[in-house]
Amino acid sequence: MNVYISCDMEGTAGLCSWKQCDPSDTHEYPVFRSYMTREVRAAIDGARDGGARRILVNDSHWSMRNLLLDELPADDDLRVISGAPKEWSMMQGLGAGSDAVFFTGYHAKAGDAATLAHTYSDDVYRAIVNGTPCSEALLNAALAGSYGVPVVLITGDRTIVDECLRAMPWAVGVVVKDAIGFSAVNSLTPQAAREAIFAGAREAVGRIAQAKPFIFQAPFELTIETAQVEHADFIELMPGFVRIGGRAVQFTSGDYPTLFAAFLAATRIAAAAAPIG
Ligand SMILES: [Zn+2]
Repeated sequence: MNVYISCDMEGTAGLCSWKQCDPSDTHEYPVFRSYMTREVRAAIDGARDGGARRILVNDSHWSMRNLLLDELPADDDLRVISGAPKEWSMMQGLGAGSDAVFFTGYHAKAGDAATLAHTYSDDVYRAIVNGTPCSEALLNAALAGSYGVPVVLITGDRTIVDECLRAMPWAVGVVVKDAIGFSAVNSLTPQAAREAIFAGAREAVGRIAQAKPFIFQAPFELTIETAQVEHADFIELMPGFVRIGGRAVQFTSGDYPTLFAAFLAATRIAAAAAPIG
């Protein structure tokens, strides 16, 4: 059984502020990257306990250089992807060789009343596929689904876990905290979260046979509502994007990976808008 783990950071137990997950912060970030690493370690250990053999971990937050690598188990069947940019970003390295996907440390989508809610970029007000407003988890799950690989574990805040379980009821959800606001949480302790993630990962491996790939139906239509008009000005520069409003662009494709790649590129080019003003 081969498991792929995409690990984000905002959904780590206790984490409630950008400072705690901003690699340039020298006070709180070092503590929280350790919490993140130990949650990922718990997912690895739980997966192994449930019978998984090969595990590929993709560090999926910010610069994607957060995990304290030497705190992960030493064995040849565990590999870790670090750094950015990566063509497939939070899903780099997922292939047909994977039997199941874990999402750890995930957070709510842009616009939700939840802690550090966003969708890949602060420049994205909403990302909508075939009429469904999407979190990073749903966008990523649909990419895995297009390769026939199901998501079986999601850990993070209650909002994102609930959203994922509505879309993928076969998955195991581990809620480590509830939002009080954008920068406040009511959370399990890190140790309690790790124990819950270990148990969830173990159970999730046992559900792989019943799990289904999550997919949208082709043709695929992506609408990006941007935070500012100038973000849409920049995304519109890319061939294939159509301007449909002051703060909205659209991209259509018969192929989901192409749509996903277009979304990633759009977030990058939108970020270029800032220095122009
Ligand atoms: Zn992140």
